[in-house]
Amino acid sequence: MSTWPPAGADVVVVGAGPAGCVMARRLAEAGADVLLLEAGAELASRRAGLLNVGPESRVVAHHDAELGGVPLELTRGRTLGGSGAVNGGYCSPMTPAELAVWGPGWPRRYAVGLARAAERLRPRVPQSDPVAARVAAAFPGRLSVIAQARRGEHRVTAFDAWNPPGAGARVVTGAPVRELRWAGGHEGGRCDGVVLTEGVEVPAGAVVLCAGAISTAALLLGSGIGPGTGHPVGTGTEEHPEVLLALDGDPSAGQSFPGALPPLLSRVARLELGDARVEVRPYSVPLHRVIPGLDPQPHRIGIALMNAAGRGEVRPQPDGGVRVVLDARPDSRDAAALDEAAALVGERLGLDASPVVSTSQHLSGSARIGEVVDDSGRVLGVGGLRVADASVFPTLPLRGPYYSVLAVAEDLAARMVSEQAW
Ligand SMILES: Cc1cc2nc3c(=O)[nH]c(=O)nc-3n(C[C@H](O)[C@H](O)[C@H](O)COP(=O)(O)OP(=O)(O)OC[C@H]3O[C@@H](n4cnc5c(N)ncnc54)[C@H](O)[C@@H]3O)c2cc1C
Repeated sequence: MSTWPPAGADVVVVGAGPAGCVMARRLAEAGADVLLLEAGAELASRRAGLLNVGPESRVVAHHDAELGGVPLELTRGRTLGGSGAVNGGYCSPMTPAELAVWGPGWPRRYAVGLARAAERLRPRVPQSDPVAARVAAAFPGRLSVIAQARRGEHRVTAFDAWNPPGAGARVVTGAPVRELRWAGGHEGGRCDGVVLTEGVEVPAGAVVLCAGAISTAALLLGSGIGPGTGHPVGTGTEEHPEVLLALDGDPSAGQSFPGALPPLLSRVARLELGDARVEVRPYSVPLHRVIPGLDPQPHRIGIALMNAAGRGEVRPQPDGGVRVVLDARPDSRDAAALDEAAALVGERLGLDASPVVSTSQHLSGSARIGEVVDDSGRVLGVGGLRVADASVFPTLPLRGPYYSVLAVAEDLAARMVSEQAW
């Protein structure tokens, strides 16, 4: 860890989430003096299976959001490892067919990035569980296994696996970046550092934003990069809307989990309903068993739309916060697809509960490649500034994005290293 106030660096990486840890490690290995700035000041529990996102969590940030007029809260990890330190931990790689829409080079770039990520994270397929078995019986041949990043009783985060300080990166926690610094004060010219919330300025040869799809957009917009500079930041974001259906009974009732908690997901069923791609998520236990501080609730399974047509928006608020409108550009096909999927799942599993509106916490695409950044993550028309997190995804994967964030960050890091861009 580093001293306060932090000295300038060749590269400042903003945010020690999955993308930030990959970037910091790879740039430091290549000889850059790297400073990794993380807003969160506390460490997440290492207990495998625990999602420390409850009301009293000290390692998350909550963002106001809405979907179909229903208020929701989007939670993001605010700690070393970012959302990957508090998430469901499910790791599923994109297929070459999904990547083809990103552009001709992407299937290969992603494959190389994924191989590097897999070497570090080494996710493993867990045993199945009774809820997964029930969904498997209802949807024969549709089940896919889901790997989890854990070793025994411990969650393995990107901070553990990439270990940026081990490669010489300086890491400072409790250091939220407020805005970007511009050479000569010319907004949108060359970025030459960052300004922390306390007004401390940290000069840098290059800045890489890895603050996640919400905060990276907020930082860009708050620093003058947005519609005024021709960058569609924060618009057209993508998410996997989800509805939850209550199961009859709780197969985990009465069981205690003294060490590691069971993985929330070990399998998913992937369905094709017309054009809609749907993921049925047989959560192994009710959410309050793995999220501390949550009121007891029925054991529900998830039904998520993986190719929603609606698009969202990250909107800065006058109080300095942000509001995410998940369906700023709604599409009626999405609600219809989720209704159809919930009815089918209910029928196959013999459930008659009403679906509860939720979301997957998979937001991406707030600073997309081709619109805000180029193929190497460089912010278009701006010097010294890159983005390397889930914000840059041209489209949201048809699966959880975590593994893909790591694979893409590996690719973008390799490009920055090959350019020696600092
Ligand atoms: C509750 C939850 C469950 C999820 N479950 C799964 C799952 O099971 N499988 C899956 O594939 N995906 C899952 N996801 C999504 C996945 O975790 C994210 O897609 C992924 O972590 C995004 O990585 P990132 O690096 O883009 O950003 P993040 O993980 O959000 O990391 C961003 C980091 O930047 C820091 N930061 C933000 N603003 C600043 C600032 N101004 N200054 C300094 N630091 C800052 C944050 O504190 C954080 O540490 C889940 C997400 C959540 C929240």
